[in-house]
Amino acid sequence: MLVAPDLSLNSDILSGADKCVKCGLCHPGCPTYVLSLNENEAPRGRIALMQALAGGQLKPSPPVLTHLDHCLTCRACEHVCPSGVPFGALIDATRILLEPVRQRPRAARLLRRLALTLVRRPALRAVVTTLLRFYQQRPGLRARVAGSSFLARRPQLRRLESMLPSWHRKPAPASTTAEPRGRIALFAGCTGRVLEPAALDATRRVLTHLGYEVVTPRRQTCCGALHLHAGEREAALTLARHNLRVFAAARADAVIYTASGCGAQLREYDTLFAGEPKDNAAENLGVTPVGICEFLTGIPWPEAVTLRPLARRVAIHEPCSLRNVLRSEDAVYRLLGRIPQIRLEPLPDNALCCGAAGSYMLSEPQWADAIVDRKLARLAESDAVSPEIIVSSNVGCAVHLRNGLRRRGVEVEVMHPVELLCEQLEEASSEERGAR
Ligand code: SF4
Ligand code: SF4
Repeated sequence: MLVAPDLSLNSDILSGADKCVKCGLCHPGCPTYVLSLNENEAPRGRIALMQALAGGQLKPSPPVLTHLDHCLTCRACEHVCPSGVPFGALIDATRILLEPVRQRPRAARLLRRLALTLVRRPALRAVVTTLLRFYQQRPGLRARVAGSSFLARRPQLRRLESMLPSWHRKPAPASTTAEPRGRIALFAGCTGRVLEPAALDATRRVLTHLGYEVVTPRRQTCCGALHLHAGEREAALTLARHNLRVFAAARADAVIYTASGCGAQLREYDTLFAGEPKDNAAENLGVTPVGICEFLTGIPWPEAVTLRPLARRVAIHEPCSLRNVLRSEDAVYRLLGRIPQIRLEPLPDNALCCGAAGSYMLSEPQWADAIVDRKLARLAESDAVSPEIIVSSNVGCAVHLRNGLRRRGVEVEVMHPVELLCEQLEEASSEERGAR
């Protein structure tokens, strides 16, 4: 038996895995099984591997670890499982269990440490964010760097560079109410400020327009999902405690997140803390974090606020975190359905992960690209007329879909639903869209 830092992990894995009746109903929704048709790349196969590892019948050999590493933690299997197998908790516990016995090449070890440290340290992250934002707002500099031989020789770095969207800050919006309706604390996430600054801007603008005071607590940190899925539970707990303290101190009427991946982790803090002390400040958070689309569909809108028509076809991507964990994908359809003349449709194959899966698109680029390419090929083959815009509520998915479309030479805008909504609220944006 592998020696777990917390011995209850072994029994948690064994009891969770024991629920699997091996029916295989989860196979069609597993992206790695759909691509490979290999039982070891399917939920049922992985559950058997985890069970044998925790029970001591199997050693953590490289092929076994590889099959587990290929799992995207998309939890599509958990969503459809009739026996209630808690797959997300199982794979997280197995990764925690395996982390002490992992052997990684030196370069991979350093890169992983650097990435996890960067998202964990707010001061360091702030410096890097400022530098990247400076870079993002200079298209000439970007074009020179993107075409340089330095990047051509470093595919990982080139991949990272291609993820950065161009961005320009907009002026602050005006409120439509004389008095604030409430105070909202915005969870910005560790990568959202760089990878999806326009969605955060739009969230602030829409909320302000609807009469809310919006604060973005400066000392907030990463939600902890990257660390938890990388097998570093202690670091995830530290980050969660810190966030709970910071957001409790913000004394807001609501805590709102823009990226559903962060939201899934924030909403599962109780599971993360099972059997662990939080602290007094953390206990006083007092509100359940809620996604921006869900929030906007749940409040009355001031009569003065109107949305301009948009006669365009918009495909809605349902990120796994929104569909399989938060189960609130309906909110996006209801929110965007408020826009007159809009034609909404689900993106084909929404039940299958797009391949982004947090840091998966960096750690397993070949699988990540093959998964998104399959999804986009299905979109091209579908009978429906091609969408003009794709919306996705998760930052990583939007980046990955955008890059996948670019590789195929397809010009379709990818944005967060709140960005689209914001554009329909504001006169200046209307002119911008008409000019495109
Ligand atoms: S995980 Fe659930 S759906 Fe998949 S094989 Fe086991 S019992 Fe069936
Ligand atoms: S979490 Fe996703 S990738 Fe992993 S086994 Fe389940 S369906 Fe497959």
